[in-house]
Amino acid sequence: MAVNVGDEFWASEICRQSGIYQVSHDPPHAQKHEVTCIKGKRFPRCRNCGHPRFVLVKAARRVEAHEFFKGVL
Ligand SMILES: [Zn+2]
Repeated sequence: MAVNVGDEFWASEICRQSGIYQVSHDPPHAQKHEVTCIKGKRFPRCRNCGHPRFVLVKAARRVEAHEFFKGVL
């Protein structure tokens, strides 16, 4: 199933689309901010809150996974 801009994920879910995600902390102990998450890894938990949310802002492939760069040193 495709992941679309605006889709929301929680800590511990497996990331299905590499890209830039906006993080909201709950309870909100920090401003919203952006991070890069990589497909196949879990969205991490936060050391300061239990339920960070990750919303896809911009999908982007990991460069090593792109057809033009895959397997090239
Ligand atoms: Zn937090």
